Amino acid sequence: MTRRLTLTFDNGPMPGVTETVLDVLAERGIATTFFVVGTDLRLPGRRGLLERAKAEGHRIGNHTMTHSVLLGATDDPEAPEHEIEQQQLQLGELASEERFFRPWGNGGLLGPHLLSPAAVDHLERGGYTLVLWNSIPRDWEDATGWPARARADIERQDWTVVVLHDNSPAVQQLAPFLDAVLADGVELRADFPDECVPIRRGVRVGSLDGLVAA
Ligand SMILES: [Zn+2]
Repeated sequence: MTRRLTLTFDNGPMPGVTETVLDVLAERGIATTFFVVGTDLRLPGRRGLLERAKAEGHRIGNHTMTHSVLLGATDDPEAPEHEIEQQQLQLGELASEERFFRPWGNGGLLGPHLLSPAAVDHLERGGYTLVLWNSIPRDWEDATGWPARARADIERQDWTVVVLHDNSPAVQQLAPFLDAVLADGVELRADFPDECVPIRRGVRVGSLDGLVAA
């Protein structure tokens, strides 16, 4: 059976890095989604990179305002408004038509720290699509070793949603990684499998078991 792979890039864009990612993807005709942190978006040069990404067919999603608040672990009742809504407003026209939101996982961990009942309610009322993942090759701490772990994940599951980061030297391995998986016959996709998207356009379509604080 054909393996499928959806690439996602978090925590960028970063000048000097994201250009490489966009070039590599364009050369191979691959579309992806960039999940952007609000406090980074305010830094110089970021919006221009996202405009290029959008113009080249990629989608832009929301990766919280500060990347520092675990929505399932904070006792701040304003956290969904600050972390989700304010960043969506800041993305403005850059944001994709489908309102993609990816919570901060503190190292890519899936667990009840990701969301609170109030955050889930906010996503549902706001018509958001909650985008999770099933591959964390830890590119941020191993700039050369991550492709082997990503390829092992692709091998063991039908459809892999990999989290990479376009703010580190790890992207230097992106071109050889993609050429290897393409040579293996892996199908590159822009969309997401149901198992990684428990909420689509505000509608609960999958299980949130273990992902929401009690
Ligand atoms: Zn992140």
